[in-house]
Formats: sequence, C-alpha cells, structure tokens
Amino acid sequence: MPIYNAPTKDIQFVLHDLLKVSEQDIPGFEDLDRDFTSAVVEEAGKVASEVLHPLNVVGDTEGCVMENGVVRTPTGFKDAFQQMKDGGWTAMDCDPEYGGQGLPYVMHTAAQEPFVSANMAFNMYQGLTHGAYSAIYAHGSDEQKQTYLPKLTTCEWTGTMNLTEPHCGTDLGLMRTKAVPNDDGSFKISGQKIFISAGEHDMADNIIHLVLAKIQGGPEGIKGVSLFIVPKFLVNDDGSLGARNGVSCGKIEEKMGIHGNSTCVMNYDEATGFLVGEEHKGMRAMFTMMNEARLGVGLQGYAQAESAYQNAVAYANDRLQGRDVTGAKNPDGPADPLIVHPDIRRNLMDQKSFVEGARAFTYWGAYLIDRAHKNQDADADGLISLMTPVIKGFLTDKGFEYATAAQQVYGGHGYIEEWGMSQYARDARIAMIYEGANGVQALDLVGRKLALDGGKHVMAFFEMIKTFIKENEGNEALNKDFLMPLKAASKDLQAAGMYFMQNATKPNNALSGSYDFMHMMGHVCLGLMWARMAKAAMEALENGASDTAFYETKIATGRYYMARQLPATAMHLARINTGGDTVMALEAANF
Ligand SMILES: Cc1cc2nc3c(=O)[nH]c(=O)nc-3n(C[C@H](O)[C@H](O)[C@H](O)COP(=O)(O)OP(=O)(O)OC[C@H]3O[C@@H](n4cnc5c(N)ncnc54)[C@H](O)[C@@H]3O)c2cc1C
Repeated sequence: MPIYNAPTKDIQFVLHDLLKVSEQDIPGFEDLDRDFTSAVVEEAGKVASEVLHPLNVVGDTEGCVMENGVVRTPTGFKDAFQQMKDGGWTAMDCDPEYGGQGLPYVMHTAAQEPFVSANMAFNMYQGLTHGAYSAIYAHGSDEQKQTYLPKLTTCEWTGTMNLTEPHCGTDLGLMRTKAVPNDDGSFKISGQKIFISAGEHDMADNIIHLVLAKIQGGPEGIKGVSLFIVPKFLVNDDGSLGARNGVSCGKIEEKMGIHGNSTCVMNYDEATGFLVGEEHKGMRAMFTMMNEARLGVGLQGYAQAESAYQNAVAYANDRLQGRDVTGAKNPDGPADPLIVHPDIRRNLMDQKSFVEGARAFTYWGAYLIDRAHKNQDADADGLISLMTPVIKGFLTDKGFEYATAAQQVYGGHGYIEEWGMSQYARDARIAMIYEGANGVQALDLVGRKLALDGGKHVMAFFEMIKTFIKENEGNEALNKDFLMPLKAASKDLQAAGMYFMQNATKPNNALSGSYDFMHMMGHVCLGLMWARMAKAAMEALENGASDTAFYETKIATGRYYMARQLPATAMHLARINTGGDTVMALEAANF
C-alpha cells in the first residue's frame, strides 16, 4: 500500500517564508497568521492521509460503475464526501453570503494540495463543483446565485463543465449542441457532450451542469456559443427539487486513470437550460474561471509527483541492491539501500526540486489571483493570465515525467500494480490533456499571452527578475548559485521572445517553438521561485531558526535545481532558433 504524508512544513514555508502571506495588504490575508494556517494545513493533511488516501487504490481498482442509468462511485467515496462536506472543506474560499468561509484563494489552494495528492479522482467531484460555483458567481443573475450557490458551496449539489463534443474539443467553434428559446425565457438544450467529469454519480442530491451551446440563429463559430445552467433535477421556487430534467448519462468511459471519477457521455434531449450571462458570450464566461481551473490542473500535476516521490524515497531507503561505490553503507547487510547510488539520487533530486519549486509557483499564482480579485489589481491579473498556461502546461508535463521517474526507482516493481506506482503515472497523465491540451497551452502563451496589452506583462515579469537579481547580488552565496544561473536562463527566455518578435510574419517559426518556450518559461519561473526560496531559507538561518536541517535542505535542493535543471533553457533556445523549417519539412503524406 503506498504511503502519503502531507508536506505541511513545506506548505507553511511557501505561505510564510516565501509569500509572507500575513504581511500582504490583500483583504483576508491579515487572518493568515502561522497558527491559523498551520491548524488548517495540518487538519487538511490529516483528512487527506487518513480519509482520502486509503480510498485512492479502492477508486482505481473498483472504478465507477453504471447500472440501469445509475452511476455508483467506488466503495467509501460517499462517506468520505460527506466528511469533506461536514468539515467545510468544499467552501473555504466561497463567499460567506452563500455559505462559504471567505478565505483567500491561496489558502484554498494550500488545503487542496494534500487532497489532490491523496486522491486526485475523488477530489475532482468538488473541484468541478468549485468551477461551476465560480462561473455562476461571476456571471449568474442574482436569482441564479441565490438558487444554486448555497448548495454548490456545501457540495450538497455538485457541478460539471460541459464543453467537449465527439467532433470538437479544442475547436469549440464546431460545437453542435443547440439551444432553442422557450416562451418563459428558458431554453431547450439538445445535443451530446462527451468526457464530462463527474457527469453522473451517487454522491449528491442534484447535479448542476454548466453547458456550452449555440442559440439558434446566432453568429457562426465560437462567437455563437452561450453558457447555460442545466440542472439534473429542476429546482422549484421554494428551493426544493422538482421534475427530472431531460439530461441523462449515456455511458461512462473506460479510461487509463482517474478511475474513481466518472467520465460521462451526457445526452441533452430538450433539457431545460437557463442562460448564464449574455447570449453568445459563453466563452467569455468560461474564460473568467480558466485561470483558477488551469491552476487547479497544474496543481494536480505536481501533487501526483509529490505522492509518487514520497513512495520512491521510502522504497529507495528500503530496497537493498548493489554497493555504494565509495564504500559499503550497510556492511552487515547483503547490499546497500538504493539511495546510496548517484543515479538514484539524481532521480530523487529531480523529483524533489521540481515538486517544491512547483508548489511555490502554484501558490504564487494563487496569491496573484487573490491580488487580482481582492485588490482589483490589473497588473496581477495580467501577470496571472500570462502565467496560467505555464502553470498548467509545464507543471502537468513535468508532474507526469516525475511520477514515472518515481516509478523507475522501483525497477520492475514500479510496473506491477501491486505497488501502486503505476496509478500515479496513469492519473497524472490526464492533466496534460484536459482543461486545454498542453500543446494548446503553449499556443495560448506564445500566440496570445506574450502580446497581451502590448507585451506589458511579459516585460513586467522580466523586470521583476532583473530587480530581484539587482537587489540581491551583494549576497555572495545567493549570487553564485542562484542569481547567476537565473540571469542566464532569463536571458535565454528573452532571446526566444525576441526571435518570435522578429519572426512575427512567419507564424510557423514561432509556433514550432511554442512548446519549447512554455517549458523554458516554466524553468525560469521555477528558477525564480528557487532563488526566492533560497533567500528566505538563508534569512531564516541568519535569524536563528531552530530547524536548521530543514532550511539547509531547502537551499541544497534549490542549488540542485539551478545547476541541473535550469540549464535546460539553453537547449530550448537552441531548438527555437532553428525555426520551423525542419519541423514542417515533410509533406503530410510522408509521415
Ligand atoms: C478523462 C477526461 C476528462 C475530461 N473532462 C472533461 C470535462 O469535464 N468537461 C469537458 O468539457 N471536457 C472534458 N474532457 C475533454 C478534454 O478537455 C479534451 O479531450 C481536450 O480539451 C482535447 O480535446 P480533444 O480530445 O477533442 O482533442 P483535439 O481537440 O482533437 O486535439 C488533439 C490534439 O491536437 C492538438 N491540437 C488541436 N488543435 C490544435 C491547434 N490549433 N494547433 C496545434 N495543436 C492542436 C491538441 O493539443 C491535442 O494534442 C475530458 C477528457 C478526458 C479524457
């Protein structure tokens, strides 16, 4: 049975030593003192390891089952969901007006991490509900908010997001699901949606589907898409549940991972739907919540790598194979533990330095979302828009890479289901695909976000790095191991940006390099996070922190990232500079 222990100390380090949350001038942040966040994070960790983690393998092996139109979640999910609701975990950052606790999003993110690490498939039921809450909160009418939000906040009702259809995923302009107006202002929704996460299940009294559809007679393509609320059970005026709506689950998909989450084909047969926001502005409504949703998926990527890493470390300490080339470490035993070998160390350091950097990057993103929303800070909004495809694309690519790297530590045992390592790799894989496949994240970054507001936000990012380096270059230890590598990587990134600008009239050159650019930027972001974390750890040591091993480990881990991971930017730049000629050289027929 795999293990999971919430890394509460690391989470606290990011919240306080790095982000200094309780010192920020963001409404709600003044309550985030160490004692409070520690209590929340410790308790979340306990729920994660004691309630959710034991159900991770159960969910994987049992999966969801559909019988006579009813979808059953795996054994224990219903009880665990009730515990999550009772503990108020589903409502942390929701508006108190609708029953939420009104905590900052960064706190919600810190509590979510252990849940996602412990059981990603399970946590998606509340994750999707949070997405539906956010869409209605941002774009719904007062009546819609009063009707749906209190129940979504508590997860008495859960939510779904319905975009994908059999013939369209990325290109939503091809959508066929149609909406025909009724006399009372509602719409008849007809069509089929596929791959709908948490589309049908047995853990809530009602399911509120948010559905994209085209109103008949509206503009062609993506400009004609509107957003609708389609409840499984219609809601009476007094809030009680009414008639069953014309929406049903056609089947649940057999898939590679996240078996505990029901992935459904949803059929809409003249189902009653209620327009959210303006007609034909459905994509705008969806995009409002994209930053949050994509940050949540990025978190899934590194959270799976974290779980896999914890197990790989335990195995590497336990498994005896070969001898330390510098002298036996376990002379009384038949062999030394795997962890003595440099190549195993390399692998574990890759995982560790990624996960800790990714956590910092993700919480920083959540902090920017708070600043954007709570302080109406347009610069923070621009910066998180720029970072969103990087958080989603880079962290999920690397999350999968390191989940499989952890599997490698187990040798053949990693490939055998009994050890549980294959589940981390299988579960992590989907995060690279849904919520916009990673290739499309790279397109978004290079095609849209770099030029957003005249390139203002990417320039602000470069300036932020420059200022940090300038302010700290007097610190010799930081300068040599952290600031100089960061400077070099940032220079690579700027050179790539320059290449794209110079090739503005040759889109294939830019787009052939977009994936490399996304990874390059991911490395620079993690490099920046590590430089900042190293500075924070050095300061803690100077100030006499008692846990010296913790802070020294942080600095050593960061040093590894800067020395062994960050130089990848040079390779990505070299690839980008070759343009699109070699990429596009073959005729389609020659593949
Ligand atoms: C388990 C699971 C759960 C899901 N949950 C949901 C859900 O809850 N709600 C929902 O609506 N959808 C959901 N999806 C659907 C998911 O979001 C889509 O599968 C995804 O967006 C990609 O769409 P597609 O599969 O149609 O691939 P396509 O759009 O056909 O893309 C195929 C490949 O081509 C690439 N590509 C496409 N267009 C371009 C382009 N212009 N330039 C370069 N490359 C391009 C993509 O990156 C991708 O790699 C889920 C999918 C799965 C498997």
